Amino acid sequence: MKRKILIRFDDICPTMDWEQWKRAVSVLDAFDVKPLLGVIPDCRDPELFINEERDDFWQYIKSLQERGYTLAMHGYQHVFDTKARGMVSVRHASEFAGHTYKEQFEKLQIGRTILGSHGIETDIFFAPAHSYDLNTLKALGALGFKYISDGMSRTPIARFGVACLPCRSGGVPRIGKCGYYTAVFHAHEWNRPDKAEEYMRLKRLCRMYQSDIVSFDEYNDRKAAGGILARLDEWMYLRLLYGVRPVLSNIRQRVGTTAGYGKG
Ligand SMILES: [Zn+2]
Repeated sequence: MKRKILIRFDDICPTMDWEQWKRAVSVLDAFDVKPLLGVIPDCRDPELFINEERDDFWQYIKSLQERGYTLAMHGYQHVFDTKARGMVSVRHASEFAGHTYKEQFEKLQIGRTILGSHGIETDIFFAPAHSYDLNTLKALGALGFKYISDGMSRTPIARFGVACLPCRSGGVPRIGKCGYYTAVFHAHEWNRPDKAEEYMRLKRLCRMYQSDIVSFDEYNDRKAAGGILARLDEWMYLRLLYGVRPVLSNIRQRVGTTAGYGKG
């Protein structure tokens, strides 16, 4: 059985933290890693207004694409304007989930047009905060998108002509002996004390698994199933993740506290 790891960087936009991004690229280059980049078409998220806008941003992004990086559309403006959770997220905040099909179609269409105006064509999408619903997938399918880097199934699920390539972790997943893993990074967060370790995690991941880290094209070699079994698999994993695990960890914490093994 083979093992494949995809490295994904989210929140790529003209005003991101360029110093942190430089650190990311130096690691990626050192290990010859070709990641998937989530590019925000028209970023309006104040948290991502970090550095002065880079004038040659779109040229630069295209130069990365020419070097083998894969570009995906990451949302539209990266602004949460509903309190919906979506299909796989636990957060009550979304740019897409909860909006009507028409509203979502328009956001996605404008986003795609903006990317196109900069000479970027992509059929890959992933939503901010992993938050999307069936209307998102339906609209993506209608607009010709073929893949999202998201979902909690074990294997890709096809919905409305869109293959949902699972991304079960919001960071670096536990890597097993075989299987497919997507590791997610947000370079702009690395200057936060609680996220500083993420840079080292990227380095460690690249060093330990260099031969298993692949580009999006190499990663995307599984057929997406549309059947009930794949959906059931995702449904059960979500129940485990958001239903059973929090209860178990609560019990563990209580037992630990009673036994004197709490934080103290
Ligand atoms: Zn994002």
